[in-house]
Amino acid sequence: MPEGRCLNSHGKVAGLDELPVTTLKGVGSRNSEKLAKIGVRTVQDILFHLPFRYQDRTRVVPIGSLRPGDSVVVEGEVELADIRFGRRRSLLVRLADGSGALTLRFFHFSAAQKAALRRGSRLRCYGEVRPGPASYEMVHPEYQSLSEGESPAVEECLTPVYPTTEGMHQLSWRAMAGRALALLQANPAALPEWLPESLLQRFRLPDLAAALGYLHRPPPDAPQDRLISGSHPAQQRLAFEELMAHQLSLRETRLRQKRLDAPVLLAQGNLSRPFFARLGFTLTGAQQRVLQEIAQDLAQAHPMMRLVQGDVGSGKTVVAALAALQALEAGHQVALMAPTELLAEQHLRVFRQWLEPLGLEVAWLTGRHKGKQRGQLLEDLAGGRIRIVVGTHALFQSDVAFHALGLVIIDEQHRFGVHQRMALREKGGGSAVPHQLIMTATPIPRTLAMTAYADLDLSIIDELPPGRTPVATVVIPDSRRSEVVERVRSACVAGRQTYWVCTLIEESEALQCQAAEEATRMLQEQLPELRIGLVHGRLKAAEKEAVMAAFKAAELDLLVATTVIEVGVDVPNASLMIIENPERLGLAQLHQLRGRVGRGSVESHCVLMYHPPLSQNAQQRLGVMRETNDGFLIAQKDLELRGPGEVLGTRQTGEMQFRIADLVRDQPLLDEVQDAAQLLLEQFPERVAPLVRRWVGDRQHYINA
Ligand code: ADP
Ligand code: MG
Repeated sequence: MPEGRCLNSHGKVAGLDELPVTTLKGVGSRNSEKLAKIGVRTVQDILFHLPFRYQDRTRVVPIGSLRPGDSVVVEGEVELADIRFGRRRSLLVRLADGSGALTLRFFHFSAAQKAALRRGSRLRCYGEVRPGPASYEMVHPEYQSLSEGESPAVEECLTPVYPTTEGMHQLSWRAMAGRALALLQANPAALPEWLPESLLQRFRLPDLAAALGYLHRPPPDAPQDRLISGSHPAQQRLAFEELMAHQLSLRETRLRQKRLDAPVLLAQGNLSRPFFARLGFTLTGAQQRVLQEIAQDLAQAHPMMRLVQGDVGSGKTVVAALAALQALEAGHQVALMAPTELLAEQHLRVFRQWLEPLGLEVAWLTGRHKGKQRGQLLEDLAGGRIRIVVGTHALFQSDVAFHALGLVIIDEQHRFGVHQRMALREKGGGSAVPHQLIMTATPIPRTLAMTAYADLDLSIIDELPPGRTPVATVVIPDSRRSEVVERVRSACVAGRQTYWVCTLIEESEALQCQAAEEATRMLQEQLPELRIGLVHGRLKAAEKEAVMAAFKAAELDLLVATTVIEVGVDVPNASLMIIENPERLGLAQLHQLRGRVGRGSVESHCVLMYHPPLSQNAQQRLGVMRETNDGFLIAQKDLELRGPGEVLGTRQTGEMQFRIADLVRDQPLLDEVQDAAQLLLEQFPERVAPLVRRWVGDRQHYINA
């Protein structure tokens, strides 16, 4: 196809997103297959595939002014060419330009090369400057021979270096980008500007074509440091547009959701009143506020999609229980799901304790329920005889049907994918969709949450119940293990229960369980006077349940555990936690684990017993743990140290993947992105769909699936 105007089958200018890479001259089916592997299919994809650094071949640099680390073009005359037979045979070429001299070092060279590099010949070279034994050196520079007096033109713009895939050479990328830019120039309408002029001005952003032109062909004076850090306006402009598209896509998801029908669940008070009367504490201000928000949502005829964030121990469970009561009062069913059996069992216990006195039977459904028992349960759920059920993801299975499911509560949402939640919509029974309440103890910095969870309404429990003292944390090497064991002894003897956590070894649950068994044996030998229990992921549900119940009833002094106790476990009398090899864990996980103590009124302690030496990153992480108990602050640090993937969990793996934007780097943009998205929705609603299609594309299907 000629590289001029490109028309599509409707005789209109084809969008660059409709043109396959093979439209570009020189890109055949072999290359297009390689490109497809990294998701580059269209001409638009080529343009959005940005360089990650640049080379400066726009000027010839005097040799006398070189500094190590520079990658530059130099020109000069060969003063000396010499083959050395040292550890490795090499050809050393001394190049001088009057301002200084430089050594070119070649380990492989042909006879022809040796001839070209002989004394007296003139060369232009490009390479990286390194310190050498005698002078600065370039190892295997690119070079070209120049004839007497010849001085070819230098490059007009910085040379882009692209992220690539096997078999795609930088020269190919440069050629493809050049052709794609030419195509864009000839057909500006093929990649329309969707951001209105007013918005570009307000946020001081360059237009789309200019930004792309700049990034693939920066002028010689372009600030390379800003380009490398991604803070150049041309990059920010693209990141901005991409973040806006994601924001709009999620908002669209939310609007669609809000148009569905859900049962109106009006609070009657006949269950919540006796519940409060027996509860034994009053709700914090934050709990009351969040409960209000939920209660209002439940009374609407459209499904609630609300995410409740609250730090560990902030009291989310009671809020969930009260939401459940409102649904039950309105005559609907409730399902509560937790990501692990251990956590689900704990909820079961708490809900039974709270709800059975009100005459409500709480059912239990996990993957372990099989056969007749399960059949009966499913019948009772479908028939509406069971009104509240607690369980794991087994609740999602396609044969689980409800009579009138009004509310689904999901604890620790970050473990559940969007798809799984979507599957729940079908479970309403009849045409109505259940309300959804999602709870997480992984706090996410607010702007980030509003970006990543724009399809959900947010509530934050930003207050701990009264009487909590922050957990005091110490970081010590495992060479002081015996001291730690003594500390456990004295704590337990004084009636304070203790957790001893064995962390994951190389991602293997089996090994982790082994390590926990081993630790238990050793502790039993060293602390014969203590009652020690062990809980890990490989125990049968009933065994786990029994151990946890014994610990909760203070029949055990010390609980050795794997990270299975990470979330939800609530034993207020436990006030000491030892975490072995905490350097293996991320901040969010450490914070969750540590949240198992500090739940009562006595002062709690956490000992992070690491195995030296610590990497710098691990030092920083443990330092953060020592300094603060604030989950939001910890989440922010986690974000900086490990990136948003870890912080957001499943959100990152599919639908929140960006081509250009980076949630950490671009955090300062997020507020403005929200405003801009709003402005586009209000003033240019017709641009929303094409903008979302450009950046989110196919992935939107499954968000809305
Ligand atoms: P999380 O938010 O981590 O799930 P939980 O719901 O398990 O926290 O609550 C932690 C503990 O605090 C529980 O023992 C719970 O009964 C108790 N609790 C919750 N709310 C209050 C409150 N307002 N006053 C006193 N204790 C409370
Ligand atoms: Mg909880």
